[in-house]
Amino acid sequence: MKERDLPGDLKNAVCCLKCRKVGVDAIRKKMPGLSRGYDRCKICKSYAYRYIEITTSPIIFVVLTVMVIWVMPVSEDGSRPIVVIGIWISIMCGVYLNNLSKRKKIRRLLKEHMRKDILYGEQS
Ligand SMILES: [Zn+2]
Repeated sequence: MKERDLPGDLKNAVCCLKCRKVGVDAIRKKMPGLSRGYDRCKICKSYAYRYIEITTSPIIFVVLTVMVIWVMPVSEDGSRPIVVIGIWISIMCGVYLNNLSKRKKIRRLLKEHMRKDILYGEQS
């Protein structure tokens, strides 16, 4: 696994892509109806992310898609609404790709942060 080089505490740190900062002051907000919350940067008010919380496992998206198709009401002729399925799959793909790029950006930010830490450590 390539992810081993990031320390665990950094993976859990709240990062703001707008401020380009790691470990920002963030407000934890609850998503209605979901156990998961999300973070908002206190400085710029935009979304802040924890590396560890960004889902990039394709399996989860496939499972979600299958589940939604499963619970979808079947129309009178026994078929499932293909347009809705199509829309759902494209939403899922969009979220997945978005998460991938977000994760990449956060990773870069964390790496940058680590380099700065090393530099600072050498000076003192
Ligand atoms: Zn910010």
